[in-house]
Amino acid sequence: MDARKLFDDMTERDLLSWNMIIRAYGRHEFPQEALVLFYQMQRTGVQPDHFTFASILPVCAKLGALEQGFQIHQRVTRSGFGLDFVVHSALMDMYAKCGSMQKALELFDRMPQRDVVSWTAIIAGYAQNGLAEKALEAYQQMQQRGVQPDQFTFASILPACAKMGALEHGMNIHQSIRESGHLSNCIVQSALIDMYAKCGSIKKARKLFDTMHRRDVVSWTAMIAGYAMHGYCKDALKLFQLMMHSGTQPNHASFVCVLFACSHVGLLDEGCKLFNCMSDSYCIMPKMDHYVCMVDLLGRAGYLEEAFNFIIKMPIKLDTVVWISLLGSCRLHKDIGLGEFTASLLFETYPVNTAAYNLMSKVYAEVGRWGDFQKVRRLMKDRGIKKMPGCSWIEVDKRVHVFLARDRSHPQTQKIYAKLEELSLEMKAAGYMTDSRYAQNDVEVEDKDIFIDHHSEKLAIAFGLLNTSPETTIRVVKNLRVCADCHTATKFISRIVAREIVVRDANRFHHFKSGHCSCRDYW
Ligand code: ZN
Ligand code: ZN
Repeated sequence: MDARKLFDDMTERDLLSWNMIIRAYGRHEFPQEALVLFYQMQRTGVQPDHFTFASILPVCAKLGALEQGFQIHQRVTRSGFGLDFVVHSALMDMYAKCGSMQKALELFDRMPQRDVVSWTAIIAGYAQNGLAEKALEAYQQMQQRGVQPDQFTFASILPACAKMGALEHGMNIHQSIRESGHLSNCIVQSALIDMYAKCGSIKKARKLFDTMHRRDVVSWTAMIAGYAMHGYCKDALKLFQLMMHSGTQPNHASFVCVLFACSHVGLLDEGCKLFNCMSDSYCIMPKMDHYVCMVDLLGRAGYLEEAFNFIIKMPIKLDTVVWISLLGSCRLHKDIGLGEFTASLLFETYPVNTAAYNLMSKVYAEVGRWGDFQKVRRLMKDRGIKKMPGCSWIEVDKRVHVFLARDRSHPQTQKIYAKLEELSLEMKAAGYMTDSRYAQNDVEVEDKDIFIDHHSEKLAIAFGLLNTSPETTIRVVKNLRVCADCHTATKFISRIVAREIVVRDANRFHHFKSGHCSCRDYW
């Protein structure tokens, strides 16, 4: 950096020069250095002003350095710069990005007037902290107060819609973007593509992608990720080739998407070739995500031993996810031996990982070893490990409804359960059978009969059927992987009610139509 050399050569450094160098480091990829300089400046006796604080707080936000951010906040208060509007917004943004929404909200409430920057900090904070419903609520409040969103607001709220699968909200926001003249913004466009893809409308995503005048690696990757998630893996690979021909360099995320696509259709050779070309031709060193995709690719294709050897040779620190992926493949191919070995390793090294217990118990269940199934369940219970609660979202009439398993909090609960009862009878008549062995053998379940029948996605689907017109596609988003029973049940339901049902689970999309699913039961 030429500026740094100039700065180092200075004999006397005043506040202005310190501010400039801190800002330069903070804005570029050197947040850590900016923080060091900030402390250095104070040691030399130069006192920070509102410009310094406005530059250093985003640095703490970038680093997720809550402790330092908090100390700087105290400093701001002592120096009286807390009343400065820009500093106040930067403080709020720092707390939100460091995961302390409560502090961010306290500051927000104290603001005499709130502009688009402060609203956006709150919306983005909610979205990044996984509180998508709250983000949407704040976005609506902001509009009610007459504050116009800008490109940063749009780029923050769209991922929240994507998370909940709130297509109608997303489409409304698309309309606002069009009206406000921000549609040509590349970041906003990529966020829109991502939203449409994640809300199940891959055609709309592609249409938007095709109209873009300038595409960067983020927009290409959003589209490729969309195809991969929907199981259109050939399209994902084709687009990846197109991107390279267009001269756009793929990044880490682009490779994760294509490798994911390869593993989901079992393109072993293609995947291995891509994995090697990543470091050989693009100098991108594989990270954990890429290794997990490779373990998944080998394992799903049935090369369990190769997958195991691949893990052993991995040059980076091992993570639970790789072992979980291998255990998933052991389940798929009913390899009890390797499954037990992997599970014992996981139970010992990461004793609180829910997924390991879940998967291992299912490995046993699938070969009918119910005694061993119970043993794993009991171990899980003894160690106090709770399953993550399943949660499903469905958007109807511009409102997002959330359901948990066995949820009875919704105003339409009676009707929903009656609908499920009615569907259950029709399904049984059509040949569907609940696999009640899980419920009967699970030591944790108290109310065994209703356990599987009332999973969150089933409640959401029943609610959707009750509240939408007959030709509407039902779209549900689930936070975990959809279970085998719900998967079978949804196939039956799609045929009985003659509706398309789209379910996005933690892994991918399932398009249910006329009794079939697009994943061909491979998920
Ligand atoms: Zn289920
Ligand atoms: Zn499926």
